[in-house]
Amino acid sequence: MKIRSATFQISATDLASCPVSDRPEFAFIGRSNVGKSSLLNLLAGGKALAKVSATPGHTQLINFFSMDNAWSLVDLPGYGFAKAFKAVRDRFPEMIADYLSARTNLACVFVLIDSRHTPQQIDLDFVQWLMDGGTPLALVFTKTDKSTANHVKKNIELFEEKISGSGRELPVVFTSSAKTKEGRSEMLAFIEKTLGCQ
Ligand code: GDP
Repeated sequence: MKIRSATFQISATDLASCPVSDRPEFAFIGRSNVGKSSLLNLLAGGKALAKVSATPGHTQLINFFSMDNAWSLVDLPGYGFAKAFKAVRDRFPEMIADYLSARTNLACVFVLIDSRHTPQQIDLDFVQWLMDGGTPLALVFTKTDKSTANHVKKNIELFEEKISGSGRELPVVFTSSAKTKEGRSEMLAFIEKTLGCQ
């Protein structure tokens, strides 16, 4: 799939201020510094999408971008700043939890995970929470150029092992690198295929 146009739509502060839309939405989320802005720009083909979300004051907003007037790309705020002992839902800003659990046109949420690290509890808890809620999701292991293919593979396997206990179907997995462009065509093909099924 080729992205021909990518335009900023709106920033929302909560579910109620999200744009009315019956277009399929693909959302992106992960811990701060996971490489989300770089991945979004990679997917948009250098159209500098995440520039808008990097503007000071926009970081805790949900940013919507219209892609080819056919689907929306949704940039969700990063997580990973709250205390570990809290219940999963309390650890994410309410607007993220609301959006992910109630947005009816959400086609898929891509959860970004740093491929250099062994599974981190907050990522595991978040993914498990999405799976338990039946939210359609895919995992993206980022920054693969920073370690060996074997190391990345091992971390993915460890992550899958940790979330496989519930007996639910495991999410689709992508690997990505903003440096080598790994993952771009695979993720766009997945989005295209999902759009075809809507
Ligand atoms: P965000 O906070 O999740 O939006 O992360 P950014 O996209 O701003 O990236 C955080 C840092 O990681 C920046 O210094 C990026 O240049 C770097 N980075 C992001 N993705 C990659 C990648 O795929 N490979 C490498 N080597 N560095 C990356």
